[in-house]
Amino acid sequence: MNNQTIVQRDLSVLWHPCSQMKDYDPRSTDPDALTLIPIKSGQGVWLEDFDGNRYLDAISSWWVNLFGHANPIINQALKAQLETLEHVILGGFTHQAAVELAEKLVEITPDGLNKCFYADNGSSAIEVALKMSFHYWRNLGQTQKTKFITLENSYHGETLGALAVGNVALYKETYAPLLMDVISVPSPDCFFRDADESWEAYSIRRFADMEQTLARHAESVCAVIVEPLVQCAGNMRMYNPVYLQMLRAACDKYQVHLIADEIAVGFGRSGTLFACEQAAISPDFMCLSKGLTGGYLPLSAVMTTDSVYQAFYDDYQNLTAFLHSHSYTGNALGCRAALATIEIFQTQHVLERNRQLALAMAKATERFKEHPHVAEVRQTGMIVAIELVKNKQTREAFPWQQRRGLKVYRYALSRGVLLRPLGNVIYFMPPYVITEQEIQLMADVAWQGIQLAVQD
Ligand SMILES: *Cc1c(COP(=O)(O)O)cnc(C)c1O
Repeated sequence: MNNQTIVQRDLSVLWHPCSQMKDYDPRSTDPDALTLIPIKSGQGVWLEDFDGNRYLDAISSWWVNLFGHANPIINQALKAQLETLEHVILGGFTHQAAVELAEKLVEITPDGLNKCFYADNGSSAIEVALKMSFHYWRNLGQTQKTKFITLENSYHGETLGALAVGNVALYKETYAPLLMDVISVPSPDCFFRDADESWEAYSIRRFADMEQTLARHAESVCAVIVEPLVQCAGNMRMYNPVYLQMLRAACDKYQVHLIADEIAVGFGRSGTLFACEQAAISPDFMCLSKGLTGGYLPLSAVMTTDSVYQAFYDDYQNLTAFLHSHSYTGNALGCRAALATIEIFQTQHVLERNRQLALAMAKATERFKEHPHVAEVRQTGMIVAIELVKNKQTREAFPWQQRRGLKVYRYALSRGVLLRPLGNVIYFMPPYVITEQEIQLMADVAWQGIQLAVQD
């Protein structure tokens, strides 16, 4: 046993995700060097390190935490579950929490999503949806359907299938030789609308590309996959619900599935419980993870329809069953945390309170719009993004090597706020238990961080 506290140890034994480890080398003399921050505990929106410094978790720990760290309701539910059943094989066996959660998810997701399939992280949910869609058509004898349509600037995770249908070069480029071919269509990303054009008009205009692509390729296409309303990892770019309405109609017309990746925008983040609600549509597959367990445990679910389920329901010898399994499928602790999370939504008027918080975030970031290095401040529900540029008029970007966003990150940490900009896009995606005062703090720190970051 090593009794040294984490702070005294060599931390490089642990290879961190989404990180150039050299940035964190304690011997580094690079002015851009960073230090790993060992966290001792969390409470509500606050994280605390071993020196007693506190950090406001303005990004919900990679968008997963909804109701704060150490939430008493989720803690209580997990303690009880732990004393009863921690996990059991989901092949041939079942359990209370998994069934209850499946029922709940059927109840709260859009109409027609009557079946729930579990996996254990977001990327795996995407793999499930892709395989299930392909396999559905195959079971129907439509073996020519092997392709997927995806939007430019989309992100669906980093396992190979998920990476293939994603589109952010930073994650994808290196692995391109390993990835299946997909058909990509320009994104309705409203950052590129004309100055006097509404989000709605631009989203409608952009749909022409999708319509054309479907008309041309539908024969060979299993599904279109989209992130409803916000392309989160793609710099928090946003579009109007009308695009989803048009997409739903076109997918029906051309006999192609619609996969809604609500992994980031689901569970209230977009302002409604699910983003698809704003377009009043039901997808054929809805992928859920991140907020599903309130940020407690890795779990994901793919919701789908009776007709998809029925296409797999057959005699054993016909080999039409869906074979996709993870050891931890339907983990009991994960399911219990998810049930407690949904209970909070159903008992605490969360969406109403979020509307107030979203207004407070809009108010606190109003002045950023006039900043000489801010091209746009955009918002969908509980997500606000501030796009830093070198030149406000031409929207010319800062060269990426200058790592302006990183300067904001570093400054914010020194002020006790965890922001984690995506390149030069500073965004807020806080837990729903944040107060209006804390929103003001978050915005003030971001403002001062930006002032510092845009110098010279
Ligand atoms: C995070 C994310 C994923 C991947 O989920 P992981 O649990 O990180 O694998 C997929 N899609 C979207 C939209 C995401 O934001």
